[in-house]
Amino acid sequence: MTAYRGRFAPSPTGPLHFGSLVSALASWLDARAHRGTWLVRIEDIDGPRTVPGAAEDILETLARFGMVADEPPVRQSRRMPLYQREFERVQSTGLVYPCGCTRKEIADSLVHAHARHTTLAYPGTCRNGLNGKPARAWRLRVPDGDAAIVSFDDRWQGPQTQNLATEVGDFVLRRADDQWAYQLAVVVDDADQRITHVVRGADLLDSTARQIYLQQCLGVPTPSYLHVPVVTNTDGEKLSKQTGALALDASRPLVALNDAALHLGLALSGTAALSRQAFYAEAIEAWSKRVKR
Ligand code: GLU
Repeated sequence: MTAYRGRFAPSPTGPLHFGSLVSALASWLDARAHRGTWLVRIEDIDGPRTVPGAAEDILETLARFGMVADEPPVRQSRRMPLYQREFERVQSTGLVYPCGCTRKEIADSLVHAHARHTTLAYPGTCRNGLNGKPARAWRLRVPDGDAAIVSFDDRWQGPQTQNLATEVGDFVLRRADDQWAYQLAVVVDDADQRITHVVRGADLLDSTARQIYLQQCLGVPTPSYLHVPVVTNTDGEKLSKQTGALALDASRPLVALNDAALHLGLALSGTAALSRQAFYAEAIEAWSKRVKR
């Protein structure tokens, strides 16, 4: 059996908030419950969204909460040559093509599709050439017909199926602003770091089929997936830096940890509120009972 390797992959767009604490805790508990290795990967590939100092701040906060990576954290911004090499490897399959569509053109075609009650996927406008438009982004062609159906069994959410052709369409690997797309970087990194178990927020459930397809194109293994429910605010929006989530009170880590465990449906006793050690002992045990192995 391959040794368990899990990860928490925050984007350093601000301090750790309650929603990201829940994801961090879930991946940490899963790694500890499997006696595995837990890694932290700083997803700072999106230059314009990265906030200086946020990565250090997140790592410090995690440490205060008792979560320290078993290997030195890696940063996507330092791994550009790896993404280039793997992008060229996907290109060599002949499935990658340049796309000249602007955001507005794509949005317009989707509005039309919506009006006609047809697919909301990228319509593949540039599949057979740019028609004189300059290349902006690079897209990965998805299969047609039944081959476009990707299924996987999520350890929390149960069986999942997505039709890449009708629900997503050919997706971007390199963006128009010359940045690597999240989908490419995350697949390359998970493979390079030999991640066996991905545990993260359910907002990424919808990306998973794309990632599995890209893994197949690259000939790398598919990890197992577990998506925990996202934390929403009272308006039902995902708690994120964009929706104004507050930074955590790192001076009272036990309170936040117990709240995060509660959000994950882990029933802990009053003892778990007394010390970090007691909290983790109970939480790991409760997690093992809560989720499929
Ligand atoms: N960096 C992503 C985020 O903060 C998570 C990526 C992942 O876990 O695959 O939403």
